[in-house]
Amino acid sequence: MKAAVLHQPKTPLVIEDVAIGKPGPHEVLLRTAAVGVCHSDLHFLDGAYPFPMPVVLGHEAAGVVEQVGSEVRTVKPGDHVITCLSAYCGHCEHCLTGHLSLCVEPDTKRREGEEPRLLAKGGPMNQFLNLSAFAEQMLIHEHALVAIRREMPLDRAALIGCAVTTGVGAVVHTARVSPGETVAVIGCGGIGLATINGAAIAGAGRIIAIDRVPGKLELARKFGATDVINAADVDAVEAVRELTRGGVHHAFEAIGLKQTAEQAFSMLRRGGTATVIGMIAPGVKIEIKGTDFLAEKRIQGSMMGSNRFPVDMPRLVDFYLSGKLKLDELISRRMPLESINEAFDELRRGELARSVIMFEH
Ligand code: ZN
Ligand code: ZN
Repeated sequence: MKAAVLHQPKTPLVIEDVAIGKPGPHEVLLRTAAVGVCHSDLHFLDGAYPFPMPVVLGHEAAGVVEQVGSEVRTVKPGDHVITCLSAYCGHCEHCLTGHLSLCVEPDTKRREGEEPRLLAKGGPMNQFLNLSAFAEQMLIHEHALVAIRREMPLDRAALIGCAVTTGVGAVVHTARVSPGETVAVIGCGGIGLATINGAAIAGAGRIIAIDRVPGKLELARKFGATDVINAADVDAVEAVRELTRGGVHHAFEAIGLKQTAEQAFSMLRRGGTATVIGMIAPGVKIEIKGTDFLAEKRIQGSMMGSNRFPVDMPRLVDFYLSGKLKLDELISRRMPLESINEAFDELRRGELARSVIMFEH
C-alpha cells in the first residue's frame, strides 16, 4: 500500500510502498478514507520531539473496516470508524478509573519479537502513535478505534480523531466549564476553534478568541466566539481583563508556547483555571507568579481532551449531525496524499485551519 514516509526530520515526506500485516486477534485492518494534517505531526516532522525513523506519521483519521482479528467484537468489516491515538489497555488504574487518555500500557502495541505491523522494503517501518494514518491502510489495535453512524461524512469524522476531541474535551472533561462562565482561547487553529466550539456547546457566557491572524478571528466568531482580540495589536492579557472586568474563569492555551501559556494563567480571575492544550517543546519551562496561588488560580495540562473516546466520539458525531458541532468550516482544503508536503508548508505558515488528505479507493 501507498504511504507517506518520513526518513529524516526536516525532510519532505516520500510517497512509497509500505507492506502492512494481517490483523492479530485484537487488531483491525482499515481502509483509510480521510486524515487531517495536524500540528502535532509537524512537531515530529520538524524534529522537535524525537521519534524513531523511518516512520509513517498521521493520527487524525477515519476509515472503513476491511478485516478484523478473531477476538474483535466491537466492529465488523464495512463499519465506518474514527481512530484515536489514545489507545487504552482497559485494565490499568487509569483505564479503570475512567481516565483512558492517560493509559500508557504497551498492550495495544505488538510485542518485541512479533512481526511489526508495518514493513518497509529495506527493513522496519515505525508505526506512529499506534496509528500511522498517512497511508492507504491502517493496522491498529481494536482499542484505538470506534464505530460511528453511517450518515457521518468521513472527511469531517477524521477531524474528530484528534483536533475536535482535544478541543471539546479540554472544555468539557479537563476544565469542566459550567454554563455562564467566561472563557478565553489563545490560538485559533484547528484545536483552538474546536475549543471555542466546545465552550459554546458547554454554554459558556463570554467566549474570547485570541490570535494574530484576522482571518482566523473571523472564523472564531463562526465557531461561537463572542469577542475577538488581535494579539498583534493589543496586549491580550490587558484586553481580556478589561473585557471581563478582572479576568476569565477559564483560559485555554492552544498553541504550545511558553509566552502564551503564561498569558493564559495571567488572564484568569481569582479562582480561575488555565488549561494548557498546546504541546510545549521539551526542555521549555514556564514561569508564573507564586502569589497567584493565594487567589486559588490553577494551571493544568490537557492531553487529548482527557477523552473517553469510545463514548465521546459518537457523541461528537451526534453534535455534528444536529448542527451544534462545526466541522465543515474547519476544513480549509482537501487534497490527495501526493500533496501532503504542501499541507505541512501551509501549516508552518499558520494561515489555514486544516487540510484533510482524501483517499480514492
Ligand atoms: Zn493531532
Ligand atoms: Zn490502561
